[in-house]
Amino acid sequence: MVRKTIVWFRKDLRMHDNPALWEAAQQGIVIPVFILPDEEDSVEVASEVGQWWLHHSLTALKEKLESHGLSLVILRGDCLKELTSVCNETQADAVFFSERFEPQVIERDKAITLSLLSKGIEVRSFSSNLLYPPYDIMNQKNEPYKVFTSYWKRTMLEMVSPPLPIPIDFAPLDQILSSLKVEELNLLSDVGWDEKFSKYWTPGEKGAITRWQQFTDDGLSGYTEGRDVPSANAVSLLSPHFAWGEISVRAVWQAANVLSEVEANMQSAVDAFLRQIVWREFAYHQLIHFPKMLNEPLRENFEAFPWLENDEAFSKWKKGLTGYPLVDAGMRELWETGAIHNRVRMVVASFLVKHLLITWVDGADWFAETLVDYDAASNAMGWQWVAGSGIDAAPYFRIFNPILQSQRFDPNGFYIKKWIPELAKLPSKYIHEPWKAPEDVLSNSELTLGQEYPLPMIDHPFARKRALEAYAQIKNKI
Ligand code: FAD
Repeated sequence: MVRKTIVWFRKDLRMHDNPALWEAAQQGIVIPVFILPDEEDSVEVASEVGQWWLHHSLTALKEKLESHGLSLVILRGDCLKELTSVCNETQADAVFFSERFEPQVIERDKAITLSLLSKGIEVRSFSSNLLYPPYDIMNQKNEPYKVFTSYWKRTMLEMVSPPLPIPIDFAPLDQILSSLKVEELNLLSDVGWDEKFSKYWTPGEKGAITRWQQFTDDGLSGYTEGRDVPSANAVSLLSPHFAWGEISVRAVWQAANVLSEVEANMQSAVDAFLRQIVWREFAYHQLIHFPKMLNEPLRENFEAFPWLENDEAFSKWKKGLTGYPLVDAGMRELWETGAIHNRVRMVVASFLVKHLLITWVDGADWFAETLVDYDAASNAMGWQWVAGSGIDAAPYFRIFNPILQSQRFDPNGFYIKKWIPELAKLPSKYIHEPWKAPEDVLSNSELTLGQEYPLPMIDHPFARKRALEAYAQIKNKI
């Protein structure tokens, strides 16, 4: 009898270097399945922007599987119930899937595994979306790493497994299973507000590989200098593709290393890029060892931080109406495209937690709702880094000055003008601090502050002093 294996796709929506798919294909018949869990807080359906991405990524996966003779079974409901039902219907011998590390998913996967095993079905999970199996890397005391540089140096000693190809032949099932159409999952907005995202992104494996090729052609060589300049187009924009597992990080790692071997002048750019990739690994390292990081500060003294509740201020931040152009440009880029450049992410996050004293947890929730690349581990690590409450975080007293950051990283205001058209006519000299522009400059720029664009919602020196005083209250608390 030929073995039948269900490959349960989750956040590994690709065919290349997918060990679950590869192994299933080596063993016999492959039955690809996707289940949209119906729990309200499920990671798959957490945000509308995520649903938009998933709709298109699933469509792409379905087409790609079909081109290899496989038919994706799309279901909605309780994952265990649906998997058990497909196992019964097909008499499958095994269920294979890629590991995930969000705490609630780990619990769900354990329960599913135990139940299927008890029915005599083999269950295997595979490491697919990280360079290194994240449990394996520990310091000399066999403890998790708390400092990125040490973690990074340690990973340099590890081998990255070579990526697997797409299996050449598949033995499909000679049975037609009932499946929903992607459209029947109702992932898209009824009113079409999410259509704009297709201007910026092409979800799916093909879109991910094309993006990577564009980056190696146009952006990578200037990555070292350009990665901090939001108008430079020098970053890869791969993060949503990694978040949905549409491109293998091992394949990217290998291709980048080959590039730096072939083109000597690419060495330092490739090193800088791969270092960023390892930040993502470090985020998962933290999540596995400190799962509370998702909603609690990793430095305990931050539990007593005197955060303020201020809905009006939070709303201005979300809408990009703080009166600080770089912050507002970032928040408007986020709303329009579902992403923000990393440098600007740090600035907007710092503004929320330090200038407005609003907890990072609220900021992280807003990012979870609006980012196309939302990733529980990287998001929590990023926010805790900015807030100063994480391990290896920026010290709290390092308060980003949104004006200096703007002058340094967007000197000509190209990025600001792109996202805040009201400021488009303002000379670069005043773009970082429009409130300093003389009346005639404002009027020549067709700008009345407080009307087309707001005055700063808070004075920077006041906010800085207030933030430091708040920090002083918890500084010595353990
Ligand atoms: P590139 O510069 O091209 O980097 C290549 C890859 O390295 C990225 O795709 C990403 O996978 C990884 N990477 C780069 N920087 C980081 C970093 N600081 N931390 C972790 N991985 C990194 N990243 C997410 O993927 N999802 C999130 O939800 C997320 N939330 C964040 C929240 C805050 C407050 C901050 C400060 C950062 C957050 N980041 C998050 C990290 C970072 O901003 C993005 O990964 C990066 O902007 C993605 O753009 P890129 O793909 O062009 O990056």
